[in-house]
Amino acid sequence: MVSRVIPVEPFDLVIFGGTGDLARRKILPGLFRRFIAGQMPQDAQIIGAARAEYDADGYRQFIKQSLFEFGPKDVPNDVTEAFLSGLDYVAIDAKGTNGWPDLAAKMRDGHVRAFYFSVAPALFGDLAERLHSHDIALPDSRIVVEKPFGHDLKSARSLNATLAQHFSEDQIYRIDHYLGKETVQNLMAVRFGNMLFEPLWNALYIDHVQITVAETVGVDGRGGYYDTSGAMRDMVQNHLMQLLCLIAMEPPAKFDPDAVRDEKLKVIRALDPVSPHHLVRGQYGASSDHPDYRAHVENRRSRTESYVALKTHISNWRWAGTPFYLRTGKRLRARSSEIAVVFKETPHSIFGPEAGSHRNALIIRLQPDEGITMDVTIKEPGPGGMRLIDVPLDMTFAEALGPEVGEVPDAYERLIMDVIRGNQTLFMRGDEVEAAWAWTDPIINHWGETKDVPKPYDAGGSGPEDALMLMHRDDRKWREIR
Ligand code: NAD
Repeated sequence: MVSRVIPVEPFDLVIFGGTGDLARRKILPGLFRRFIAGQMPQDAQIIGAARAEYDADGYRQFIKQSLFEFGPKDVPNDVTEAFLSGLDYVAIDAKGTNGWPDLAAKMRDGHVRAFYFSVAPALFGDLAERLHSHDIALPDSRIVVEKPFGHDLKSARSLNATLAQHFSEDQIYRIDHYLGKETVQNLMAVRFGNMLFEPLWNALYIDHVQITVAETVGVDGRGGYYDTSGAMRDMVQNHLMQLLCLIAMEPPAKFDPDAVRDEKLKVIRALDPVSPHHLVRGQYGASSDHPDYRAHVENRRSRTESYVALKTHISNWRWAGTPFYLRTGKRLRARSSEIAVVFKETPHSIFGPEAGSHRNALIIRLQPDEGITMDVTIKEPGPGGMRLIDVPLDMTFAEALGPEVGEVPDAYERLIMDVIRGNQTLFMRGDEVEAAWAWTDPIINHWGETKDVPKPYDAGGSGPEDALMLMHRDDRKWREIR
């Protein structure tokens, strides 16, 4: 099979915060994988820009260590060295003048210019302003910004306004790495590339949708930040909301950035406010080898949630009557992210009550073991009458397509290549982010006003009892976290 890797145009990518955790763990190892795959052109230039006083060689050594830790294994040394030779470094002060003329001098004519803001959001305005005052950013240059994109609607608006002073919307790439996952994109292919699903994709046939993002880790190392945020801001407002949009959106007229994002925005705007009765918050307790949430964040009175579960509805023709259940939490039984689209039972069972109740479910699994399965009901093989069982039909593409398809790129590497290509389809638009905050703000404000205290839950379990009740009350149940 012919290689599917299409090299991108020559580019200069500046990583502000090039010595930080994200750059070391995700961005540079991701670029390294694309280099190995042959997607980076020979003269691509990657420039780390941060406060530390490295020279180019010192930075290469520093990044070599990160590639060793977080990059692909068993790469021949000459390949690693070839990648590192394309790396440069500028010691820069985002808030001052230091380093900016050096950076300007390193930019090359005719290269796509992309600037990754892998720094605290408080620096975004300073970076945007200096990129312009030093004539480094051109009208077709791109900036990449990370979450958190604001803390609430007000701060997100202000951040959007700050960036808009220097960059137009088509230059701004707001990353949500969930959108870069292979399976998330495959979800769109399955929905809009097949006749099979779309006619059933509505409240007449779909009983409910459940979206789970479960983590086994606690807030380790991020306690200070996390305690000012919580699961609603850190996960629901962005990642879970994006997944919900892709499940619920109308088919866009074409697969282009604004057509897709217009449809996602309509979903967010059609979301009902969440009733306090349909909301559960939790905080994890201690386990034999880990402290509880409050000890972790060193705040014995913390009322921040490390878990949230909720039920919401989308008020439009397609979805009226189908609830969407969302849950996410830390220190749960397993690291598992999946979307389950659960269909209704058949209107009448010809096999009688002893056949039990069966529902088809389309399971889109993001991690671990990315893939899509469809639970179908069949006859249990063998003699003994008509006993029904549910079995998964595996649509895991990598296996079906064979080894020629190669390694599936990770979310960051795919998204960075999209930035260079100038494709914004998998990035959040400013109005989408604001609409998502407009929906989450009243929930968070309600917790603050009522001084709501999160329910404790067992570390290593599946969340607070109340979250199970949220489903049980509706005669439904969460899929097991495993
Ligand atoms: P970090 O604290 O590890 O690194 C911060 C970087 O910013 C360093 O390179 C530092 O030199 C640079 N910096 C700080 N002040 C500067 C200044 N005045 N001038 C120039 N450079 C300056 O942070 P991180 O974990 O890499 O996170 C970076 C951004 O990405 C943050 O906005 C964070 O919220 C976001 N993010 C990080 C992760 C992650 O996994 N680390 C995940 C999602 C989002």
